[in-house]
Amino acid sequence: MALRTLDSLGSLAGKRVVVRCDLNVPLRDGVITDDGRVRASLPTLNALINQGARLVVCSHLGRPDGEPNPEYSLEPVAQRLSELLGSPVAFARDTVGESAQEAVAALEDGGVAVIENLRFNPGETSKDAGERTEFAEQLATLGDALVSDGFGVVHRKQASVYELAEILPSAAGLLIATELDVLDRLTEKPERPYTVVLGGSKVSDKLGVISHLLPRVDRLLVGGGMLFTFLAAAGHKVGASLLEVDQLDIVKGYIDEARERGVELVLPTDVVVAASFSADADHVVTAADAIEETPFGASGLGLDIGPDTAAAFAEAIRGSRTVFWNGPMGVFELAPFAAGTKAVAQALTEVDGLSVVGGGDSAAAVRQLGFTDDQFGHISTGGGASLEFLEGKKLPGLEVLGWS
Ligand code: ADP
Ligand code: MG
Repeated sequence: MALRTLDSLGSLAGKRVVVRCDLNVPLRDGVITDDGRVRASLPTLNALINQGARLVVCSHLGRPDGEPNPEYSLEPVAQRLSELLGSPVAFARDTVGESAQEAVAALEDGGVAVIENLRFNPGETSKDAGERTEFAEQLATLGDALVSDGFGVVHRKQASVYELAEILPSAAGLLIATELDVLDRLTEKPERPYTVVLGGSKVSDKLGVISHLLPRVDRLLVGGGMLFTFLAAAGHKVGASLLEVDQLDIVKGYIDEARERGVELVLPTDVVVAASFSADADHVVTAADAIEETPFGASGLGLDIGPDTAAAFAEAIRGSRTVFWNGPMGVFELAPFAAGTKAVAQALTEVDGLSVVGGGDSAAAVRQLGFTDDQFGHISTGGGASLEFLEGKKLPGLEVLGWS
């Protein structure tokens, strides 16, 4: 079944429309360091504004654990949204309380209000379906329809993503439709060679996707924090680098499976090892099988792929027709450990075919390193969501919108 799209809701002129966005932007000292997710929400918001709908925009931000916390307020995001839309945006200091009710009641046709962080309410992410439904019913009083457009959360069964979509007439927004289009191109007959590049820090999360990708891809390049679990599985010592000991047998299985299937599993041959986790730490490049043979011994930390590896990865990427990349190659937030991520990003911009970057930190990394969105085929707003899609999992936030 196909996803219900905006037109399935009929005319929304004068109607109150709750728009579930993913405005979960990275903040440092209250300042947005990457507004990519706010920008990605604009096409849907503008389409609804042009119809004369009254927009009640909601999102989560960070993990405030079910209670109000000024550190995770959406207020700076509402301000940024107002700048990008070029029109005033009202801000409600609560999610479903008096302030929200007032802000919504004051909306004019084509007007926009942002309500406070959904996760200030325990019902949003509760494991208990009854609690989620109760919160969704409160949210439902704010609107006549729901447009669901927070692609980054469609793999979560949460009140504003799932239960609310059952209560109100609901449809997917333009961002979700675009994201699914691109992911379809990655799963249905991708042009070959097809290369997937995995990195980042959520090792066990991402290991899961590998068994589903191995039968589908030609090459798998492994960098970031998870590379050390691969090196350890191949019998090497990894010092104090990120390592998931309980995943070693699974990873050994992947290495064998890749060999049997003829998939090129490309592991780093050199890495950057540092004395400690900081920008001014002493660091050296060493062979991937000699991580403990640096001056830092067994306390050395692998924080980036080395230059030979970066060059090999770049060549493999450039020679592909389809590339999906999720997870930075190293700790790019610290300048001395950003080179691997930069080399991979650069190579993606040179792909003759489809190049897709997925993941919040990966997207932030490419922008922080000076690349622009139009240099890539697509920058996905969802890391976990796109990985679960590629794994072939059912995503509750899409199923509830008619997709199967
Ligand atoms: P995404 O949000 O793109 O899915 P993740 O959240 O999985 O990516 O991972 C991003 C984080 O991974 C970054 O903050 C980066 O510093 C970290 N990272 C990358 N390589 C390493 C490493 N070798 N050791 C520790 N952390 C790493
Ligand atoms: Mg992340």
